[in-house]
Amino acid sequence: MDFRSDTVTHPTQAMRQAMATAAVGDDVYGDDPTVNDLQIWAAQQHGFEAALFVTSGTQANLLGLMAHCQRGDEYLCGQQAHNYKFEGGGAAVLGSIQPQPIENEPDGTLCFKKLERAIKPDDAHFAQTKLLSLENTINGKILPLDYLKQAREFTHKHDLKLHLDGARVYNAVVALDVDVKEIAQYFDSMTVCLSKGLAAPVGSLLLGTKEFISRARRIRKMLGGGMRQAGILAAAGKLALTEQVSQLKVDHENAQILAKGLNALDAFSLKPELVHTNIVFAKIDDNIDQAALKQSLQQQGITISCSQPMRFVLHKDINRQDVERFLQVLAPLVA
Ligand SMILES: *Cc1c(COP(=O)(O)O)cnc(C)c1O
Repeated sequence: MDFRSDTVTHPTQAMRQAMATAAVGDDVYGDDPTVNDLQIWAAQQHGFEAALFVTSGTQANLLGLMAHCQRGDEYLCGQQAHNYKFEGGGAAVLGSIQPQPIENEPDGTLCFKKLERAIKPDDAHFAQTKLLSLENTINGKILPLDYLKQAREFTHKHDLKLHLDGARVYNAVVALDVDVKEIAQYFDSMTVCLSKGLAAPVGSLLLGTKEFISRARRIRKMLGGGMRQAGILAAAGKLALTEQVSQLKVDHENAQILAKGLNALDAFSLKPELVHTNIVFAKIDDNIDQAALKQSLQQQGITISCSQPMRFVLHKDINRQDVERFLQVLAPLVA
């Protein structure tokens, strides 16, 4: 039972089968039929002109930022944004693009007034503000559809592009019970991770216009991300989207059970109404030795990560009985 992340999910039997029999070619020549099929299908499915199958969510975001922005440009994003805080400063290091982070509101949104104040005037002192990047879900929280609409209006008004880090966008899709296009329609570009709760072993998608994706393809090659017989991976990637989306609903139900169970323990406190999808953040009593707790749980085959608040991520390789057993094992350890 591994609560650290949904990235730990193993590929399904159907994925292994599809990988073993996938038709392949050299994708740098554009010859891999399975990659081409995934990209054409995914573009249509998400309502974009084109898609690119890439190695990771980090690479998808970096390609997106570099395809939208030139050296000396900047992008607006959240202080908690993955593509600001958790991607090694890649946009700055590799793209010479400056991030302009804004504090996220408690619900994960960015305040338009604060964003407006951060847009730089057209003056030689400043970097040129080109893009707003949002994340959905962000720390497991869903950005409301109405907020996305406002973000589109805001970026039109200020002549900015709008990018979505949609690593876990399907968790929002399932929780809101909408078609992914309902979310995607507001964005110039978006990313989707196939290798988190959707269980593919490797891979993400970047979506946008044909012209944008052709720029991203050139940058991907430059960064060493051109892949050859990548159909082996794309075969699993397509099953992630066609077979695994409904599993996320089960993950969300298990997250609710875990949230209620943790809240019933004196050592933990959390707001169940902030648990929208598959991620549970719970404040743990500061008197509890987290390292010792982690070790005791590990001896019972349960892996957690230490932080304040603690983060627990639900996914297909943890079922309801597992969650119940975890709570039983945990209770005496934190009593
Ligand atoms: C995981 C994640 C990424 C990066 O994906 P990797 O495949 O791990 O590089 C980007 N954005 C968000 C919101 C993520 O959760």
